[in-house]
Amino acid sequence: MKITVVTNNPHKAREISLFFEGVAEVTHVALECPEIRHDSVRKIAMKKAEFAYEEIHTPLICDDTGFYIHALRGFPGPYAAFVQETIGNEGILRLMEGISDRKAHFETAVAYADGRDIRVFSGKIQGRVVRPRGEGGFGYDPIFEWRGRTLAEMSPEEKNRISHRARALERLRDFLAPGR
Ligand code: IMP
Repeated sequence: MKITVVTNNPHKAREISLFFEGVAEVTHVALECPEIRHDSVRKIAMKKAEFAYEEIHTPLICDDTGFYIHALRGFPGPYAAFVQETIGNEGILRLMEGISDRKAHFETAVAYADGRDIRVFSGKIQGRVVRPRGEGGFGYDPIFEWRGRTLAEMSPEEKNRISHRARALERLRDFLAPGR
């Protein structure tokens, strides 16, 4: 099986290739897909995949991820990329000064387009916002703790067993290769 991952984010491409090791041959295309503004990462991923299929005409996947801080009513949600590029993790921690409810979750939507249809699979992980720890991962990983460790403190393989992205990819794998 062959899958093309369309993303400008090399970290996502690496995680997705690692996930499919031994199951599918993953090719990475670094194409910038326009991102619509929408509350739902599922809808955003679907539109990215629609655009990407028009460009490259091969079965492909696109991913969109949101980061939701419960005490901030879900902020930054689907605007996670903009917030990461502007105020970053330090800015998030400043916004949360004095807030004791640290609960947050990630949601990733993976859209698969094959020219006939676009299917969207999503996955979530619940955790807590903490001061940065760890050298691995990317984006919000150093400030997101799951069962006592941040995602940045995990090896790529460990993160890929429990992450929001892995859970979405498991659903995609079950669809593409049932029983694997
Ligand atoms: P997008 O899906 O490319 O729009 O990414 C949204 C934002 O969330 C970007 O700033 C990413 O760096 C960040 N992000 C996406 N996936 C992850 C992840 O697995 N861990 C931590 N941050 C992530």
